[in-house]
Amino acid sequence: MINYCVGCNISHPDWGWKYSAEFEGWLCTKFHTPSGASEMVSEETEEGRKEYFNSLLQPYRGGVLSKEYIEAHGTKGISATKEEVKKARYVWRDLKNWENRAKTK
Ligand SMILES: [Zn+2]
Repeated sequence: MINYCVGCNISHPDWGWKYSAEFEGWLCTKFHTPSGASEMVSEETEEGRKEYFNSLLQPYRGGVLSKEYIEAHGTKGISATKEEVKKARYVWRDLKNWENRAKTK
């Protein structure tokens, strides 16, 4: 399918799009390692963020640990150091539905 690719900065066809929260757009397979399910996951991401904001959170952004992530999931699933946890910040404020995230899954 054809998407606007934030990696190449053009619209072009690719078979394994991945939504990048960091770049707020789609990345083609040149910029990520596609898994078989990547297309499905990325299609759900935009719509799903309303309902599943917390589930879709990435634990890190630009190397900074996400406070939203810790609030939603704790630190069990990630290998964060104590120092990283102490420095955790709200790094996903610009995402849609951020303010309602406590009500999401
Ligand atoms: Zn591309």
